[in-house]
Amino acid sequence: MSAGLVTVSYIGATILFILTLGGLSHQESARKGNVYGMIGMTVAILATVFGPEVTGNFEYIIITMLIGGSIGIILAKKVEMTQMPELVAILHSLVGLAAVLVGFVNFMGESTLTGVEKVIHEVEIYVGVLIGAVTFSGSVIAFGKLSGKIGGSPMLLPARHWLNLGLLIASIYFCYDFVHQAETGGGMTPLIIMTVIALLFGIHMVMAIGGADMPVVVSMLNSYSGWAASATGFMLGNDLLIVVGALVGSSGAILSYIMCRAMNRNFISVIAGGFGTDTGAVAAGGDEEQGEVVPIETDDVAGLLVNAKEVMIIPGYGMAVAQAQHTVNEITQALREKGVNVRFGIHPVAGRMPGHMNVLLAEAKVPYDIVFEMDEINEDFPDVDVSVVIGANDIVNPSAQEDPNSPIAGMPVLECWKGTTTIVLKRSMATGYAGVQNPLFFKENTRMYFGDAKESLDAVLKEIL
Ligand code: NDP
Repeated sequence: MSAGLVTVSYIGATILFILTLGGLSHQESARKGNVYGMIGMTVAILATVFGPEVTGNFEYIIITMLIGGSIGIILAKKVEMTQMPELVAILHSLVGLAAVLVGFVNFMGESTLTGVEKVIHEVEIYVGVLIGAVTFSGSVIAFGKLSGKIGGSPMLLPARHWLNLGLLIASIYFCYDFVHQAETGGGMTPLIIMTVIALLFGIHMVMAIGGADMPVVVSMLNSYSGWAASATGFMLGNDLLIVVGALVGSSGAILSYIMCRAMNRNFISVIAGGFGTDTGAVAAGGDEEQGEVVPIETDDVAGLLVNAKEVMIIPGYGMAVAQAQHTVNEITQALREKGVNVRFGIHPVAGRMPGHMNVLLAEAKVPYDIVFEMDEINEDFPDVDVSVVIGANDIVNPSAQEDPNSPIAGMPVLECWKGTTTIVLKRSMATGYAGVQNPLFFKENTRMYFGDAKESLDAVLKEIL
């Protein structure tokens, strides 16, 4: 394939990737966005493999693509929807690792560059390895936290901000040292030292993040993986990788900002680590119970729903665990046929990944026009007769507003307790992701409907029909 044709293919792929991002920003067009992405990636891979840069050794490329592709297919088929964030985190770590490896191989390889061009290339390598290493270790820790292999509470070292500043200054110094030593053919030692520093920084940064702030970290690491890919593009001189990496990096950064705003968090505080509490202990509002709860039975739940005018459904992580979304849709249809106005209130960090609930509800074919973002419906709760909280906990926790010492203090929540009655579906009195007890469960107008969300809702559906 000629260089000109490769350039044209790269431009085509870039346009397809931009259309992908546009498509993914709305539920209705998300599927189309995915298709654009798949076509764009196929064009990109073919143009790169058959382009003038790759000469011979096709058998290695084909074998590695087959191995990588097979692992990808097996993982994608095996992974549960609730494990998606972990999968995404570990995939981000691979992008980071690739940037580190490409950086080292690039540095060890022969270079014909001289003068300023050589220095620029060395700085590209240094920055690429740095971003890659932070992305790699940070993503591995995020994987550990999301999969429950590492505890969710923040690990806050004393003087951690000074520690971070020290690591940053050391990285800048070793960059100077690296470029200086590379003039005489050296440079490997400062590059390795910086890699270790960057790996430690990635670990420290994510270990310091508390449970409720993990969504921001996931989107931030998404952004880092984009910049790592972009840096790899600079090292390899591949324009498409630079552009695509920048698209992922900037869209991830925008998503992180949106998540921070939605959670009333300061972006810098979150990435500097340790938001919420200075001691690392779970402060007030721990996991001890706070009074009596009032349980409710299936027929009473059905009765309340059928006799209501306004019903608000609030799905959370437990709906994903129970895979209750299809029953939720059937109940919604049945109630709407009986003249009940059913709406859904979606919290921006409900579930375990951005858009988690929207994906599940779309899969179950819940109409888009009755699904609302938190900001759109939070003021409507005083007019709601029955709120049904399905496997949600942190996102409906009033202590976020009432208890300044709570680890989730300041996070906006769905104010369902302002309605007439709230029914909470969950299996026990266990806490949610942030590990704090929820005063909502003990309120006078709350009824606890214990059990697996799918089994409970199946029983309610039978009563309603
Ligand atoms: P939570 O994790 O706060 O609560 C989920 C609740 O679901 C639990 O209390 C659990 O209680 C219940 N549950 C679990 N399985 C079932 C089941 N089979 N049937 C019924 N109930 C069940 O979820 P939320 O959605 O309220 O909040 C999301 C949390 O996750 C936030 O803290 C957020 O910061 C965090 N997070 C979000 C990410 C994102 O991007 N959206 C990423 C990472 C973290 P029980 O065991 O008693 O049944």
